[in-house]
Amino acid sequence: MKTVSHWIGGRAVEGASGSYGPVTDPATGEVTTRVALASAAEVDTAVANAKEAYRSWGTSSLAARTSVLFAYRALLDAHREDLARLITAEHGKVHSDALGEVARGLEIVELACGITTQLKGELSTEVSSRVDVAAIRQPLGVVAGITPFNFPAMVPLWMFPLAIACGNTFVLKPSEKDPSAALLLAELAQRAGLPDGVFNVVNGDKVAVDRLLEHPDVAAVSFVGSTPIARHIHRTAAANGKRVQALGGAKNHMLVLPDADLDAAADAAVSAAYGSAGERCMAVSAVVAVGDTGDALVARIRDRAEKIKIGPGNDPASEMGPLITREHRDKVASYVTGAAAQGAEVVLDGTGFTVEGYENGHWIGLSLLDKVPVTADAYRDEIFGPVLCVLRAATYEEGLALINSSPWGNGTAIFTRDGGAARRFQLEVQAGMVGVNVPIPVPVGYHSFGGWKDSLFGDHHIYGNDGVHFYTRGKVVTTRWPDPQDGGVDLGFPSHR
Ligand code: NAD
Repeated sequence: MKTVSHWIGGRAVEGASGSYGPVTDPATGEVTTRVALASAAEVDTAVANAKEAYRSWGTSSLAARTSVLFAYRALLDAHREDLARLITAEHGKVHSDALGEVARGLEIVELACGITTQLKGELSTEVSSRVDVAAIRQPLGVVAGITPFNFPAMVPLWMFPLAIACGNTFVLKPSEKDPSAALLLAELAQRAGLPDGVFNVVNGDKVAVDRLLEHPDVAAVSFVGSTPIARHIHRTAAANGKRVQALGGAKNHMLVLPDADLDAAADAAVSAAYGSAGERCMAVSAVVAVGDTGDALVARIRDRAEKIKIGPGNDPASEMGPLITREHRDKVASYVTGAAAQGAEVVLDGTGFTVEGYENGHWIGLSLLDKVPVTADAYRDEIFGPVLCVLRAATYEEGLALINSSPWGNGTAIFTRDGGAARRFQLEVQAGMVGVNVPIPVPVGYHSFGGWKDSLFGDHHIYGNDGVHFYTRGKVVTTRWPDPQDGGVDLGFPSHR
């Protein structure tokens, strides 16, 4: 069986704790790999390596940093397929989707290649006689990232390329469910010329995470995962004096107005609800049909959903793969099983589905629930599976109020031909990312990604300008080069002359 170790100080380091976790191929249900689970002492070793590397990396030239990042971009580009294969083998998503994940992660490496422009400071000359003021941004030191299973390459890439471009060194704790992609990311970074210790990977579970949260040499923590853990990370890291951004879960609503192109809306709903088996934080999991659109929209969604081909992610014919674990599959199924008793109409029931020849895989079919009451568990919880809830609203205002009453505020979308309604929606909806006829509005790399309410704890969204801001701190330098005519003691508060 393959063993996934840690990556510390520029090399693979075997686990020393004696503790391992299983990594399963979701399509077969077989445990293919064991992943080392770090002890607190192993986390300390990684942080110590990162701290040592920061001594030179923190003051390295922008030219040196970007030269590594450009080489890294080329290597990642050349290894897209390898990364995608690792992702499919451990996460289960179909190969084309895994390639998409790598491409979106590469965007942030490309952003980091342009860090020279992002880190330009500001200078005001002659703010007073012979006084100049410069604002600069400097790295924080050692920063940590803790990432979820659903994007094992992209979410780490949201974090560390920008963090190291800003001059920090990094310790990543990937999801223990699909850790291999992170190790390849680290190996390629070293091949690109990244000095040892600048980027480290410690595998592990809560033990490793909690040590990172309390370690005195960790200056900041970026987290992406579920809401309860995001809340814990935010509280604990902040209580330990760290800067923290913690992105949580979601229930993303798509509002469909009566004037929308219903075929386009149904295409979008199916793609966004069932892509990656619904295991995306930006998946559309609730459609709100306004006016009399509901029946026609549900019929169109059902027709499309019935045709989706489910199978192993490495089969090019598959459009949707299995879920990450058997336990998660059973939990997702329980929402569908319980939906009718809670008042929903079960239009498609994906429970009990299996794939011939892969009977032990973590399969579930597509489920579609209509007229779901807001009190039903299927609506109230983040299911994180291929289950789409449709709710009905009489008016735009009613639909908007429903969306805004959700505790989450990650992404949302409106489908309409009415520019005025779309404009109102983008201003009135309480969510961090809004799509207008775009179902999954994940911002491009040079804008920032993040939700509102229980979808993000902290002040900064991730990547883009917010990312640069998060991974640096500001300093303002006031300079006077005295002229022979200056001089004399002045006890007054400094003011402009
Ligand atoms: P998770 O919260 O279970 O795990 C995320 C990370 O936290 C993992 O590295 C895990 O090892 C660690 N962790 C888990 N339990 C912990 C604990 N008790 N103490 C300390 N650390 C712990 O999330 P997941 O199941 O891996 O990922 C799915 C979730 O992530 C979904 O809720 C999804 O919406 C969310 N997500 C959000 C975004 C976003 O940008 N907002 C992006 C991707 C995923």
